[in-house]
Formats: sequence, C-alpha cells, structure tokens
Amino acid sequence: DAYIAAIETANDALNAYVKVTPEKAREMAKASDGRLAKGEGGALEGIPLGVKDLYATEGVHTQACSHILDGFEPRYESTVTANLWADGAVMLGKLNMDEFAMGSSNETSYYGPVKNPWRAKGSNKDLVPGGSSGGSAAAVAAHLCAGATASDTGGSIRQPAAFTGTVGIKPTYGRCSRWGMVAFASSLDQAGPIARDVRDAAIMLKSMASADDKDTTCVDMPVPDYEAAIGQSVKGMKIGIPAEYRMDGMPEEIEKLWQQGIAWLKDAGAEIVDISLPHTKYALPAYYIVAPAEASSNLARYDGVRYGLRVQGKDIVEMYENTRAAGFGDEVKRRVMIGTYVLSAGYYDAYYLRAQKVRTLIKRDFETVFADGVDAILTPATPSAAFGIADQEMAADPVKMYLNDIFTVTVNMAGLPGIAVPAGVDGAGLPLGLQLIGKPFDEETLFRAGHVIE
Ligand code: GLN
Repeated sequence: DAYIAAIETANDALNAYVKVTPEKAREMAKASDGRLAKGEGGALEGIPLGVKDLYATEGVHTQACSHILDGFEPRYESTVTANLWADGAVMLGKLNMDEFAMGSSNETSYYGPVKNPWRAKGSNKDLVPGGSSGGSAAAVAAHLCAGATASDTGGSIRQPAAFTGTVGIKPTYGRCSRWGMVAFASSLDQAGPIARDVRDAAIMLKSMASADDKDTTCVDMPVPDYEAAIGQSVKGMKIGIPAEYRMDGMPEEIEKLWQQGIAWLKDAGAEIVDISLPHTKYALPAYYIVAPAEASSNLARYDGVRYGLRVQGKDIVEMYENTRAAGFGDEVKRRVMIGTYVLSAGYYDAYYLRAQKVRTLIKRDFETVFADGVDAILTPATPSAAFGIADQEMAADPVKMYLNDIFTVTVNMAGLPGIAVPAGVDGAGLPLGLQLIGKPFDEETLFRAGHVIE
C-alpha cells in the first residue's frame, strides 16, 4: 500500500510507470501473507518490484513502450519475471523505457520521457534518468519500488543506474533466460536488476537467473548464492585498470572518481594492475553495426498481422508499410535502416562481417587479461553525469547520444558481466558510477568488489 501510494503521488511528475497494477499487487501480497503465515516464504516474499515494459507479463499490457505493440497482452509470462513471482515477489506495474530499448536517455519512449528524480544543485532543470531502463532506474531511486527488472544490450542497465545513484548489474550473456523479453539484439541482450544497493542486486539476480529450455542461449549452470559474496574480503584480488578507457577529453571529475575507486579497492587489500584492451576504440562503431543489424531482423515480426497496431492499406504490402510507418518512432526507424543497409548484399562483408570480426578481437582482449590473472576490471560507468531532457546537442547529433555507451558496450560485445555502482557525485551533486567488469559467470567477484566501492 505504501508503494502504491508513493506511485500515485510521484508518478505524474516522474513518468516512471507506464502501467500500475494495484489490484494484482494486492492480490499477490495477500498470497504472500498467507505463505509467510505458514512459514513458507520465498527469498523475495512480499517484496514489491517494478517490471520494465520489455518483459512479457501474462494478461498485463506489454509493449516495450512502442506504439506498434498497442493493445498487446501476452498470454505467457517471461521466465525472469516468473522466477521472481515464484520466489514471492509482488508486481507493482510496468516501467517506462526507450522504445524497444533503443536509446540512452529514455526519450524515445512512445509514452514520453522519464524524469530523473535528481536535480543539479541550485537548478530546476529536468534531467534524463539514462536509458533504456530509465523507468526502472528512476522508480528505484525515487522509492517507487524496492527493485526493478531491467535489460542491457549496450549499457541500458548500467548507464541509468549510474545516472540515478542506484546499482545495476548486467550478468554474463546466458545467465538469465531471454524468453519472454522483447528482443532488440539477441546476441547482446541480457536481463538484470536495478536495485538500491549491491546486496539487493545480488538477491534479485539470484532469483532472476535460471536454466531455461525455452532459450537455447541460456546456460544450465547452478546459480550461486550471490548474497554470500557481500562483505567477503577483496584481499589479493587483482583489479585491472585499462589504459584505453582514459579517453581524450574525459572530464576531470570522472578521472577523480576513478582514482577514488582505485584507492578504495587498494585500501581494502586488492592489487591494482595496469592493463591494455587494445581494441576498445572499435567497440562503439562495431556495436552500432551489430545491434541495428540484429534489431532490423528481430523487428521484421511487427507487420500489423501478428501483434498490436494495424493501419490498413489498399493491399497487404501497403498495410505493412502503413503500420510500420505509424508504429515505429524515429530512433527505431533509424536502426532498421542502418541494420538492413549493413546486412544487404554487397555491404554485408564490408560492415556486418567486419564488425563481427572486431567483436571477436574485443573478446580476445578480455580473455588475454583474464588469463594473466586479472580478476576484475575497474572503469567509469559513463563519461558524464545525467544530462538535461531534450538536450540540444544530443538531439542534433544521434552519434553524441551513442557516445554515452562508450564504457559499457564492450562488455556486451564480449558477453561478460558488468556492474555499475554509485561511487560519488559531480560538482553539481549529481550521482556518478563506476563499473566493474568480470570473467564469464563470475558475478560473485563483482558483488564482492562492488560492495567495497558503494
Ligand atoms: N544505448 C544503447 C542503444 O541505444 C544501449 C541500449 C541498451 O542497452 N538496450 O543501443
């Protein structure tokens, strides 16, 4: 009831939820009470969570904040949310996001931008919460849920977490099932939580992760007790500092934050080593070929026949065209055009195939440093703090917006786990985050080291 009241009070201003489900929440909470009374409570019994609109929720409107999925009510539940409910969690509603998770500011949503609950000192300007999981991050930061599901294709969990002073982890590719998540770029997409602290993120991820026959890329490996990692010593842990992440023109406060994180880990007994990830500079351009290519293929299914919106035409081809023209927003259309271009005959080898080769080189960079004994890598999470809604520079140049992902996309390209933890504030008092990158399926090390920093 307290969370529902908080949503009623604050959501008009923040626009974090696109759908609130109070009846469902109360019904689930009642069932929780029953189980708790019998001493049968699950790991998340009665914990109220928000769900990114990208997760299929049975009987509850799901549209990845795209006009083209208007009216879509799935008849099935995503594996990740089913796992959370099986552990007793309670659903408060569906959270705003960039359309089909394409964006870094939550401004491409059909439902309009989400406002970051934070403001710069002495300013009344509305700031973005980051994206694409902007609704998840804003809702957690503003106490409109105890935790939220999110998803990360190129940084969409970690960047919004950094912009809102929350914790977000993108686990290893394959750790969580993608079944029932609206697909953006299938070889990069991963589910993960945004939570108030590292411990909450660990508890949520344990519940979200599972094997799943319905997703062939999902691994069948036991899920460790991530919470047990919290508070464990980092003595002797080898933390790599990649030279290539020290970008030209990096703001001084980001550099300072990074040094602070290094000092905290060192004081806690970790060994700090300089490392090199030489192909880092190719990650962003390669990502913006691979991700749109996969998106253009995944989004072919929205044809006005199978789901949501249909805009009639004189024949079926015109109906497809009219539906897609009306149903997709500008950023989605841009991705579909880039994607179909790089996949087309004559360009495939020059762009798509080359980007895939670059991806392998990026992955090998990481394999080399991990083989040298590095346990985790520390970098900034974002190149800046949250920026203003309708930022002129970003609007004029989509590539500027893409630069937000500079520290996060490598992790998706290599399929590795990455966590963003709040580590300080900038000169205006806005939150800044640091990122830890780990070995495949070694999320525990990230929780251990992340807890030292938060
Ligand atoms: N900002 C990146 C993009 O727009 C990443 C999005 C995401 O991780 N879903 O593609």
